[in-house]
Amino acid sequence: MAKEILIVDNDEIILAGVGDALGEAGFIVSKARNGLEALEQARRHPPDLIVTDLIMPVMDGRQLCRHLSQDPQLSHIPVVVVTATIAEGLPSAQELQELKAKAYVAKRRMDAMVVDILDIVRRLERAEVDAGPPVVVGLKDVRPRVIARELLSIKRHLDTLLAALGEAVIEFNEAHQVVYVNPAGVRLLGRSETELVAVPIASVFGDPIPAAIRRMEQSGRREEFEFRYGDRVLKVTMTGLTEEDKPAGGVMILQDISHVHQRLQEMSALNQVTAAFTSTLDFPLLLRLVMEQVVELMKVEAGSLLLKEETGELTFAVVLGARREVAQGLRVAAEEGIAGWVASTGEALVIPDVRKHPMFSTRVDALIGSETRSALCVPVKTAERVLGVIQLINRTDRTPFGEADLALLSAIANHAATALESAQLHDQLLQTNQQLLETHNQKNKFLSQLSQEVRTPLTGILGYAELLQDKRVGPLSTRQQQYMQNIYGSAQHILKLANDLLELAQDDVGRRTFFAEEFSPLAVLEEVSALMAPQAENKGITFSVQGEPRLPPMRGDLHQFRQILLNLVSNALKFTADRGEVTVAARLRDPGTLAVSVRDNGIGIRPEDRQRIFDPFGRGQNAVASRIPGVGLGLTLAKRLVELQGGEISVESEGENRGSTFTFTLPVTPPAPVFPSGGIGPGTPTPPRSGSQPAPS
Ligand code: ADP
Repeated sequence: MAKEILIVDNDEIILAGVGDALGEAGFIVSKARNGLEALEQARRHPPDLIVTDLIMPVMDGRQLCRHLSQDPQLSHIPVVVVTATIAEGLPSAQELQELKAKAYVAKRRMDAMVVDILDIVRRLERAEVDAGPPVVVGLKDVRPRVIARELLSIKRHLDTLLAALGEAVIEFNEAHQVVYVNPAGVRLLGRSETELVAVPIASVFGDPIPAAIRRMEQSGRREEFEFRYGDRVLKVTMTGLTEEDKPAGGVMILQDISHVHQRLQEMSALNQVTAAFTSTLDFPLLLRLVMEQVVELMKVEAGSLLLKEETGELTFAVVLGARREVAQGLRVAAEEGIAGWVASTGEALVIPDVRKHPMFSTRVDALIGSETRSALCVPVKTAERVLGVIQLINRTDRTPFGEADLALLSAIANHAATALESAQLHDQLLQTNQQLLETHNQKNKFLSQLSQEVRTPLTGILGYAELLQDKRVGPLSTRQQQYMQNIYGSAQHILKLANDLLELAQDDVGRRTFFAEEFSPLAVLEEVSALMAPQAENKGITFSVQGEPRLPPMRGDLHQFRQILLNLVSNALKFTADRGEVTVAARLRDPGTLAVSVRDNGIGIRPEDRQRIFDPFGRGQNAVASRIPGVGLGLTLAKRLVELQGGEISVESEGENRGSTFTFTLPVTPPAPVFPSGGIGPGTPTPPRSGSQPAPS
């Protein structure tokens, strides 16, 4: 039976010449125009011998030889290489060995070449060239071909580069078959070169790649995209190739970006999770939120957050998953099981299989009837302390936990720790605040009660002192009169102190009310001046009131307004020497603001005292040095009352003994309109009703 020979060459003349000669010699001849075609034909129908050229497009003779020798179905087929490059010693003797060809015939004149080929085929038939080094024939007839040598050296350089490249490179032809895969491609795809080469690209990658090739062919542009390949994400850069302006397949560069992808997904999930953490400072709510986010993100069957007590014990604070109600509130001893170990060391643990882990305690599983296979446990810790641990049980896809899960959960736990610590601090702060407020209120209640109690007997003392001073119960000696005056003065001092304390304490216990009524500020000024005139007269002080005659009436708390004014005027009189000058002036600073100032030419205030005299018990140094009596509450009270009404108080003084001017402002609320029917009068806080409704009678 005639032998079948496959001839491979891109040169049609050689194909025809050698083919005819072998055919005439009785062989069945088939032909292929490059290595890829030859490989496909051989796979479909293995020939008895292959005669191939070395330098060919698409897949050259070297690659063909390599694929043949690696394919168990084809490795037995003998190969004869017909090549021009052999004359220059290219390929080298070592490469010739590697190609595993039986013989090399130098490309030259057709007749001489055909004779050599037939001779070798016959010798092969007779099994004369089976063992030993390859036969090389026809060398003496060929001239060196420098271009071929250069081309070959470039190609070898490229081959080396492609083989060393970290990225996977896959070349495909116009029929979308794989022509070449570099070693990185073989590693990435996890298949041998023989399994990949000459195979339709769609059967290697599925649909996305052929679709992209079509897009690239239509647009003529490079395609760049990502796609899933099994459990990995690959980035593809695809470039088209042309030969003599016709499309000739293309090259793909593939990069495994699974880890980058995974990181990105984790980062965005982490971002979402941690953003949720900052949404609340409510500690129990935050605990729950942390665990809900973690369980959802990490896709686990169950998860729990255990808080560390001062004793070192752990309590299940939040439990999510089946049978959670049984575990909720359970306690774990300081170093019991995985959670105990993590809490006491502050180190994380990832346990792919708990049955093989010595630290795993079956107690909780037994208690709640669960079955832990794989576990992940990380500490929730700040720089100073471990607040607790997060423990996750079994991934829902039943795969064991790995290092990537550990990294992600640790990152979440770090954020959770910060959020939980803030919430804890916030809770403590609230509690302390509440306690402080209670103490403060208690103190004020006490003060206000004490002042009330003191006032009653004081009024008695003052009354009796007045009776004695007025000599209604008999004459007094000059000395007795003097002592009586001292008693009266001191009692008055205590009464003022009690009154001021009572006023201030009322503020803090929230008892002060603001009673709005209509009054004329000018009238109040005059009333106060009448009240204080005797005191001024006693000291020979010129006391005057300068009110803008057109000051409008206003709505506000009359009692408080009077009190502020009285405090300032009595201070001015007190801190001004005999025969000084005190002036009270009121004017509209703008249509909505009344400004009242009390000016004196008394002892003045040092710059460093101007702030603190408004603090409780704050007194000016010169006032104390001059032994002018006082307790330092009058201005505090005046300031509070002014601010209560939405105004401001300030002081100016040119320095010691150069007088002071206290000014306070109050917003002028115009009086409510008076209705002719008389239903709503001054002092009634209800706003006027709309005109369509009858006014109440
Ligand atoms: P008291 O008058 O009982 O000391 P105040 O709170 O009314 O308390 O005043 C606080 C301090 O402010 C006074 O002790 C005094 O030093 C200073 N002061 C207040 N009014 C004047 C003023 N008109 N001239 C100088 N100093 C003043």
